[in-house]
Amino acid sequence: MALRTIRLQGDPVLNKVCREVKEITPKIQILIEDMLETMYEAEGVGLAAPQVGILKRIVTIDVGDGPLVLINPKIIESDGEQTGGEGCLSLPGKAGRVTRPNHVIARAYNEKMEEFEVEGTELLARAICHELDHLEGHMYTEWVEGDLYDVEYEDEE
Ligand code: ZN
Repeated sequence: MALRTIRLQGDPVLNKVCREVKEITPKIQILIEDMLETMYEAEGVGLAAPQVGILKRIVTIDVGDGPLVLINPKIIESDGEQTGGEGCLSLPGKAGRVTRPNHVIARAYNEKMEEFEVEGTELLARAICHELDHLEGHMYTEWVEGDLYDVEYEDEE
């Protein structure tokens, strides 16, 4: 596995629509492993392939319940509302208030291209919405209410 470089806001790759994954090739398996490693190293709760410069519909998420890999994900149900702080590994040190559904169900494929559904509330619902936006070329800053604010990290090395 290897760490990938996280692309930062302003990089045009973050504004492009990603392509569907047709089959799991060894290259895609390595990409997924690298995305997980990169996400954990950066202490993020989610990462989308375009954030490492790859325009494919793959996201990794871990809100503390273990790794989730979503390939070609689609939100099939969403309801409720939550408003809270949201940040992005492509815009380090910043956050902003974003309103998202409080509950979502997404359908996706796993690393064996088996279809499955994932249901999330609160942080997981927010993470799913945020990461799926990346696949359409959107950053959360497009939906921010008010100004971005600085986030301070404790115990930074
Ligand atoms: Zn993001």
